[in-house]
Amino acid sequence: MKLGQIGDLRQILEIQLADAEGRLRQIKDRSVELTGKKSRLAEFKKQIGKIDTEARAEFAQAVQSIEKQIRDALDGAESSLNERISALKAERDAVDVTIPGRRPRTGHLHVLTILRQKIEDIFVSMGYTIEDDREIETDYYNFDALNIPEGHPARESQDTFYTTTGLALRSQTSTVQIRAMERHGVPIRILAPGKVFRRDTPDMTHTPMFHQLEGLCVDKGITMAHLKGTVTEWLKRMYGADTVTRFRPSYFPFTEPSAEFDFSCFKCHGTGQFEGERCRPCKGAGWIELGGSGMVHPNVLRACGVDPTVYSGFAFGFGLERMAALMFNIDDIRHMFENDVRFLEQFN
Ligand SMILES: [Zn+2]
Repeated sequence: MKLGQIGDLRQILEIQLADAEGRLRQIKDRSVELTGKKSRLAEFKKQIGKIDTEARAEFAQAVQSIEKQIRDALDGAESSLNERISALKAERDAVDVTIPGRRPRTGHLHVLTILRQKIEDIFVSMGYTIEDDREIETDYYNFDALNIPEGHPARESQDTFYTTTGLALRSQTSTVQIRAMERHGVPIRILAPGKVFRRDTPDMTHTPMFHQLEGLCVDKGITMAHLKGTVTEWLKRMYGADTVTRFRPSYFPFTEPSAEFDFSCFKCHGTGQFEGERCRPCKGAGWIELGGSGMVHPNVLRACGVDPTVYSGFAFGFGLERMAALMFNIDDIRHMFENDVRFLEQFN
């Protein structure tokens, strides 16, 4: 029992005790009223002597009978109240406020929060600000402004959750890029962490809600070299100075050119072998595929009122659950959302 609860219990007992004592006083007052010198019973008793002899015995008996009934009722009520009062007093005195309370279980941050904050700290130290925004978006912010054309598979309702009023649960955190550029203009350097939603059937590597982290840097003269330098610096600070990154050409509607980025495995340091066996996080490849990146598409800049002939920028994004699963050897990302304390407590 917590200290606060002990205090509450004592208070409840005190209230009950005061109530019982109040009722006992009422009964005593009632007793005086019904049987005292000024009561009607006293009047009747006085009259006994004045009554005719033949009727006197009967009258006296009736008065005595009434008196007995009244006294019995009052005595009964009084003794049961006295019992209750002494029981309440015993209970109150048994509550020992000097016994140390049981410590409440201390909570701690969720594994995803720990990882997110670590990444945020690195980017804040590189001059980025953390940007947050809404999770329910219009098609314009979720698709159009991101250069995702009508008819693109991502826009299909089998991939995106829609509300009954036609709003989309954002399917990527890139929406924050658009809103941030509209709000702050350029130059801009932001990191946007947040929940995203896709109509995936939950399995070991998929959940319909997961977290993305997205970075955006727009300024004059920004090139692919800045993208590579930034991502490499971040991963070196995360996994050690010997971490190597590589970029593979890819395609995303909102970047051009686009690249997927990998980094040398933090466990086997790119060898693919760990303690004589095939390394688990990288599956023996030596590389870990982490996310997508590229130079912000001129159409995206234009949608935000930014002149792509003057400004250029890079963006990158990746999933937090996948990164956490690799780092902490979690074989099923659903564990992260099932709130089993035995699982969560491992990451204190
Ligand atoms: Zn490895």
